[in-house]
Amino acid sequence: MFDYLIVGAGFAGSVLAERLASQSGKRILLLDKRPHIAGNMYDHYDDAGILVHKYGPHIFHTNSRDVFDYLSQFTAWRPYEHRVRASVDGQLVPLPINLDTINQLYGLQLTGLEVAGFLAERAEPTAQVRTSEDVVVGKVGRELYEKFFRGYTRKQWGLDPSELDAAVTARVPTRTNRDDRYFTDTYQAMPRHGYTRLFERMLAHPGISVMLNTDFRDVDGMIPYRELIYTGPVDAFFDHRYGALPYRSLEFRFETLDRAQSQSVGTVNYPNEHPYTRITEFKHLTGQEHAKTSVVYEIPRAEGDPYYPIPRPENAALYRRYRALAETTAGVRFVGRLANYQYLNMDQVVAQALKVHRDIVARDAAAHPTAMPPSRRAAQSPGHSDQSGATPDPLAGRAEGTVLTDSLPRGAEVVHQEEFLGRSAVGGDN
Ligand code: FAD
Ligand code: UDP
Repeated sequence: MFDYLIVGAGFAGSVLAERLASQSGKRILLLDKRPHIAGNMYDHYDDAGILVHKYGPHIFHTNSRDVFDYLSQFTAWRPYEHRVRASVDGQLVPLPINLDTINQLYGLQLTGLEVAGFLAERAEPTAQVRTSEDVVVGKVGRELYEKFFRGYTRKQWGLDPSELDAAVTARVPTRTNRDDRYFTDTYQAMPRHGYTRLFERMLAHPGISVMLNTDFRDVDGMIPYRELIYTGPVDAFFDHRYGALPYRSLEFRFETLDRAQSQSVGTVNYPNEHPYTRITEFKHLTGQEHAKTSVVYEIPRAEGDPYYPIPRPENAALYRRYRALAETTAGVRFVGRLANYQYLNMDQVVAQALKVHRDIVARDAAAHPTAMPPSRRAAQSPGHSDQSGATPDPLAGRAEGTVLTDSLPRGAEVVHQEEFLGRSAVGGDN
């Protein structure tokens, strides 16, 4: 009997697996339908030996010291501040729009104060900022909106900015100084040995078993567990009872070039030309040295893996119906970007998962106020984490970190902890 079955080995599922195993002495089965851990954060070495992100470029940035400290247990970091250029009017100019963007684009030599006036003259503020068009036009005016945001957004989302919540384009600020960093968070860094290595270390605990190539729907009912944590799409969990929630997908096209560098910064955006939105060159992000270089093009798609919840009022209304169902489904917690239908960055997902763990600890403490702390209990009764001590454990006597495979569908893969521990020991300096 597992204490928790966790569906999805991305940040939401893996943080909870790690916390529940290491801090609460729970036995966890973490499963994912993909052939690897790390969810959308998964990175690997391509055929040329260059570290690439399989599901598009992922840059870590956060203002949360808690999140940074927590992840620092599992990785060393490489300081990295992401920079983006946008291809506009035949030039590559800094994005977010800043003082240099305006001067370069219009051949001017304005100061910070003057550029603030320049933008104020053009801005068309609305009384109520509702849409992604309102946000940008209200700050920089229609011309810059059309050069930088309208085309990109229509490509990325298949919708006009006027049809999307303000929060989407509000992710990209406007500046009147020369700061050309894409993010201004306190902590900006990349895991030195990549995200997958970070996840391997996170999951290298004897209380965690991982099963890959396994869709929850195919094994539901076959695996005994006490509680479920679900991090996949919430509408799929409920068999799309109220209809499918819309997601936006992407096709990632990878290319390896026979030269050391392909572009001057990590990402170049193409708001107005080409079917793709941006090209990212991984070596900028990872700091890897190599005679060749690998890049990824992002081509937006309506069909495919659900990467982005689409923030607009009708989708929020449909999601609220699913959320109401989720709230009345006993024994299941919905965590992460897909399960909450929220456009969250990775640090927000980590913070959410840490909070869910704190909630579980508080609930358990309230239910068993005199219970022994989990770490001591685990030490005294290995392989048995039932708090009451009443339920017999079908896995008692087996090595921890294994699962019963007899009843599982073909293709299900059991990854043993020894493999994680073995791989993690290779070549790391943290
Ligand atoms: P996921 O990583 O999606 O994990 C969910 C897992 O559940 C998946 O592995 C899936 O296979 C599994 N699953 C689903 N259904 C089932 C099922 N039925 N059975 C078994 N397994 C199932 N954030 C940043 O902070 N910085 C960035 O630079 C950044 N860039 C991004 C770029 C792109 C292109 C995208 C799409 C996202 C980006 N993000 C970025 C956001 C980041 O990817 C997410 O916040 C984070 O990965 C969410 O983690 P999660 O665990 O909620 O979901
Ligand atoms: N955006 C845009 N032009 C750009 C960059 C961003 O119009 O050059 C808009 C677009 O709608 C995009 C949103 O701003 O989806 C958020 O951008 P971000 O870079 O945060 O997107 P993500 O990295 O999450 O895909």
